Amino acid sequence: MKVIRKVLIANRGEIAVRIIKTLDRLGVDSVAIFSDPDRGSPHVMMASEAYSLKGTSSTETYLDIDKIIDIARRAKVDAIHPGYGFLSENAVFAERVEAAGMVFIGPPAAAIRTMGDKLEARAMAQANGVPIVEGTLQPLRDSGEARQKADEMGYPVLLKAAAGGGGKGMRVVWDSSSFDEQFERARSEARNAFGNDAIYIEKYIERPRHIEIQIAADAHGHIVHLFERECSIQRRHQKVVEEAPANNLRPEVLQAMSQAAMTIARACNYRNAGTVEFLVDDQQRFYFLEMNTRLQVEHPVTEMITGIDLVELQLHIAEGKPLPLRQEEIQRNGHAIELRVYAEDPRQNFMPSTGVLSKYREPTGAGIRVDSGVMAGMEIPVWYDPLLAKLIAWGQTRAQAIERMKRAISNYVIEGVATTLPFGAQVMLHPDFVDGNYATDFVDRLSPSMLSEEERQMLGKTALRIYMDAIQRLQLAKTNSQ
Ligand code: ADP
Repeated sequence: MKVIRKVLIANRGEIAVRIIKTLDRLGVDSVAIFSDPDRGSPHVMMASEAYSLKGTSSTETYLDIDKIIDIARRAKVDAIHPGYGFLSENAVFAERVEAAGMVFIGPPAAAIRTMGDKLEARAMAQANGVPIVEGTLQPLRDSGEARQKADEMGYPVLLKAAAGGGGKGMRVVWDSSSFDEQFERARSEARNAFGNDAIYIEKYIERPRHIEIQIAADAHGHIVHLFERECSIQRRHQKVVEEAPANNLRPEVLQAMSQAAMTIARACNYRNAGTVEFLVDDQQRFYFLEMNTRLQVEHPVTEMITGIDLVELQLHIAEGKPLPLRQEEIQRNGHAIELRVYAEDPRQNFMPSTGVLSKYREPTGAGIRVDSGVMAGMEIPVWYDPLLAKLIAWGQTRAQAIERMKRAISNYVIEGVATTLPFGAQVMLHPDFVDGNYATDFVDRLSPSMLSEEERQMLGKTALRIYMDAIQRLQLAKTNSQ
């Protein structure tokens, strides 16, 4: 067992700030690292100490293992928390941290390796009796073999990169006509993004829901789950709005999914907090998708309904202590929704938007939590993920959480860059969302380009404009009353 008194956070932005907050509360010293553009960022100001990474791009800063280990040594930290993204799922990094005599606040490198390869993960799930999406378990040799599989399975199919992540390297193929071209594209995309061009094929499930289970496992063989999150509101296969609990999920399905998630964690000797992701079809049949071996962006919704601080739990596990709670002691209360506030323009296909935050003021109020990594006057760098903040609303009921979220969106002042706030308003006001009746095609169905010209015009004239107007009116009313 090792006592952790000082932690380096190998990350930036909202997640670095969020981790520092827990470290502060626990009386643990924090060490921030920063790139040149991040010099004046909140995470740098909040940490007990901060060190420059001297550079700009991710590769020369937050992904540079040598620089980070060197700083960790100089700062004499006990442990490194990787956050999410960057080096959080890099097995070599985990090994290097441990080899330098420090604790990696994450799973053993072997678990990262297994789960980092989607094919290995699929094979492991299947070997343990967990259902997977129909498809291959080996990389495809060439487009000929891929086409043959697709023809056998029937269209639509999904080509996926074995090393994929962040929705990259994925292509839906609707018929055989442009198959070879799509295959080559998927392969070159995978090669460029991950340096690994292994591609496999899965049946493309139409209108699935994305439901995931939060688990935690200690070094003593104990595993618990902290219920589920529903993350079906996605753009480019990436989440924008998440909530917990999921909508209308039958209790026996949740029970089976939780068991499956813990089975997978056990099979890969997992230790740390982790998330097992599933697709759920319209019959509520579920299929293993992947396991994320780190803290998830959307972890706050779980924290809000369980009252458990997941970063604290990660530290506790990393110190080698047994889980502090038994399964039956983990209860949930109420409903939580998270909106990811990205610097992206939802009216231009969620294109990243850069600029200076000329005005920035966060909403407050009962049940509202904002996890952010920005402040007024800051320039939003083009170099990294455009997530500015996460707006989380908790309510006794889902309806109350939605009401609080709407008010918080209208009270959130961000000027200087376009954000996903108006999109969030649109979601909160949408009848399908209000009914809890939606799937991963929610955003596409909103997108005018996916509709017939007639439908597009109707949507343009009615729904979209009404939503946007409503939120604008709310904001105007607010400005006038100030
Ligand atoms: P990544 O690791 O890149 O995030 P995932 O495998 O986790 O990729 O999938 C991300 C999203 O892509 C899912 O939430 C879902 O919306 C969509 N998706 C993935 N696989 C399928 C599939 N077989 N059928 C339909 N949608 C899928």
